Amino acid sequence: MVAKKTIDEISVAEKLDNLASLQEVDTKIDNIKILRGELPLEVKGLEDEIEGLKTRKKTTEELINDNKENITNQKNASIEAAELIKKYEKDQMKVRNNREFDSINKELEFQKLEIELAEKKIKEFESLNVDKKQIIDDTKIKIKEKEDRLDEKKKELDEIIKRTSEEEEKLVKKRARINKKIEQRLLDAYERIRNSSRNGLAVVSVERNACGGCFNRVTPQQALEVENKKKIIACEHCGRIFIPSVEKE
Ligand SMILES: [Zn+2]
Repeated sequence: MVAKKTIDEISVAEKLDNLASLQEVDTKIDNIKILRGELPLEVKGLEDEIEGLKTRKKTTEELINDNKENITNQKNASIEAAELIKKYEKDQMKVRNNREFDSINKELEFQKLEIELAEKKIKEFESLNVDKKQIIDDTKIKIKEKEDRLDEKKKELDEIIKRTSEEEEKLVKKRARINKKIEQRLLDAYERIRNSSRNGLAVVSVERNACGGCFNRVTPQQALEVENKKKIIACEHCGRIFIPSVEKE
């Protein structure tokens, strides 16, 4: 039986192979994420927009109800004034002198003005509600449009997730297995380089004496050392870890 090697005992060549495997798995996971692309963000954005539109619709409906209440109040005020007018007109028949007549006349004029004012306000509130109803109609259309788009995007995303989740799960498990074989110092370096590179590559091959990550020249001496896998060599320019060219293997 062969004793299991501890992390410290594994050769540089094995370390490089493990790093290469890790990079390969990570690139595959990255590609799945690229496939999903902006969809998760788009779905979230649409959900937020719909939420905002629904709030707008609700507050507008509340304003309409407030205005309806105002209209009712004004109608009641108008009815009250009309009743008073009837009463004053009866009173006017029974007056005994000019002074009393004038005084009742003033009250009559005042109540007529009250009715005019109430009618003016009712018209204003009604006109406001026409505008608000238009806002609600427009908002309803917008909500419907956004909901249709959300359905589409969700369907798209669900399909991609369904198609890729099994593969992703396998890759994540594989990644965990490889991870265990690599010493922390190298893992930290790997993550650091990967996070700072736009294409997510921390491990690259040397192709035609050039770095496969930043394409700067690699000296023939370094290229040879990379091929020999006796030392971990990093690019002088971008810091990426070199592995031998795949073509030559
Ligand atoms: Zn480089």
